[in-house]
Amino acid sequence: MEKNQEFVVAIEDMNEDGAGVGRVDGYIWFVKDTVMGDVVRAKAMKMKKTYGFARLMEVLEPSPGRAEPLCPVAKQCGGCQLQAMSYEEQLRFKERKVLNNLLRIGKFSRDEIEMLPIIGMEKPWRYRNKAQFPFGENKEGEIITGFYAGRTHNIIENEDCLLGVEENREILGIIKRFMKENGLRPYSEKEHKGLVRHALIRKGFRTGELMVCLVINGERLPKKERLAELLLQVKGMTSISYSMNREKTNVIMGKEIVDIYGPGYITDYIGAVKYQISLLSFYQVNPDQTEKLYRTALEFAELTGDEVAWDLYCGIGTISLFLAQRAKMVYGVELVTEAIRDAKKNAEINGIRNVEFFVGRAEEVLLEEYEKNGLYADVIVLDPPRKGCDELCLNTILKMGPKRVVYISCNSATLSRDLRYLADGGYRIERVRCCDMFPGTYHVEVVIMMTYCGDKKK
Ligand code: SAH
Repeated sequence: MEKNQEFVVAIEDMNEDGAGVGRVDGYIWFVKDTVMGDVVRAKAMKMKKTYGFARLMEVLEPSPGRAEPLCPVAKQCGGCQLQAMSYEEQLRFKERKVLNNLLRIGKFSRDEIEMLPIIGMEKPWRYRNKAQFPFGENKEGEIITGFYAGRTHNIIENEDCLLGVEENREILGIIKRFMKENGLRPYSEKEHKGLVRHALIRKGFRTGELMVCLVINGERLPKKERLAELLLQVKGMTSISYSMNREKTNVIMGKEIVDIYGPGYITDYIGAVKYQISLLSFYQVNPDQTEKLYRTALEFAELTGDEVAWDLYCGIGTISLFLAQRAKMVYGVELVTEAIRDAKKNAEINGIRNVEFFVGRAEEVLLEEYEKNGLYADVIVLDPPRKGCDELCLNTILKMGPKRVVYISCNSATLSRDLRYLADGGYRIERVRCCDMFPGTYHVEVVIMMTYCGDKKK
C-alpha cells in the first residue's frame, strides 16, 4: 500500500481514542470517524511498520451502531470523537474500554469484575455548564467565535455547540455587537494585537445563574458599563467581569480579574449541597451526571453515620461534603490552596461541621496524619488526576487498612494499575460502575468499590 491509495476495510474494533480498527492482509489500519461493524472505503495517510492511519472516504455498509451527527461542524471541530456513533453504541464503547483495561492492565479475571450498567444521560446534549470561546476574524475581517479545531488554533465558527447551554449563542451575539459598536478588535495570536481574546461563560444549572468573563489583551475594557447593560438583558445574568491577559500564552485566563457587575461568583447545587463557584474555581462541567457519580460513590461507601471517611484529591470538597451527610467525620486532602479555601467556605455555607480539610499532597498528608497523629480510616474515597495515585499513597492506604476503598477515576488505565496494587495488598473488587460525564467524547468516568478480604500477595 502507498500513501493516498484507497482501499476497502471492515471495522472490527475500536481503539481507546474512538478510532475504528480494521485489518487488510494482516496490516492494521486506524480510521477515525468510523464505527465497529462499518465497511468503508479509506485512504492511506500515514504508515508505520505494522500499522497505519487512514482517512474515511465513504461508508459502504454502515454499522447498526452508526448515527448521523446532529452537529453541522462535528467533523471539522473534532471535539466529539464519537460523533459517528449512536448514543447506545458510545455507552457500549465506554464500558468495553474500562473492562479491557481492568483485564489487560489490572490483570483481573472476568469473574472478579461485577460491572453494573453504565450511567448514561437521557438527553446527551447541552450538558456542559462551562464554555470558553476564542475570538478571531475570518478572511473578510469579520469577528468570529467558536472552537479551536483539534490540535490547532484555527477557529471553527460555532456559537451554538450542542454540548453547551442555549444562552451561549445570545451572549456571544451581544459581545460581538458590543465589540462592533465600540470598534474593539479580536485578538490575533500571530500579531499579538487586538483586544478581545476569549469569553468564558458558566451557568448554574439548578439556579439558572449565569457568569460571563471577557479575557482581554489590555489593561482596561472601554465602555464596560455598556457591556453590562447589554448582557443584563439575558435572563439569569449574575456576574460579569473581565480578566487581563497580555501574555503570549495558551493559558486562557489572566491572573487579574475585574468585576463589572455582581458578586464575582454564581451559586449552584449538587444534590442538597450548595456551592459558590467563582471564576477560577474547579467545578465539574456536567452537573447532572456529577450528581449521579457522587451518589454512586456515596452508595459504594456504604456509610451508616459512624465512619471516619477520607476524600483524597478532594478539589473544592464536593465529594467530602456529600460524604459528610452520612459519615461521623470526613477528612479532605487537596494540593491546591485556593480549592481548599473554597472547600472550607462551601462547608460553612451548608453548615456542615464534621469535615476537616488539609492542603498538601495526598501521599504525604495521609501518611503523616496516620503515623504522627493517629488518624484512621473506615472508608477511603479517592478521585485522583489522570496520572492516578502515587505508590506511597496506595501503600499508606494498605497500612491504614480501611474496610472499603472507593476509587473514582477519569482514566481507566491508571485506575487498573492502582487497583492491581491494592488487590495484591489484600483488597478485592466488589463493584464497578461507569458514568458518562462527557457524551460524544471518548472520556469515561468509573467508580469502583474494593473491600478488604485479607488475601495478601504483597
Ligand atoms: N474530587 C474533586 C476533584 C478531583 S480532580 C471533584 O470531584 O470535584 C483531582 C484533584 O486532585 C485536583 O483538584 C488536583 O488539584 C488534585 N491533586 C493533584 N495531585 C494531587 C496530590 N498529589 N495530592 C492531592 N491532590 C492532588
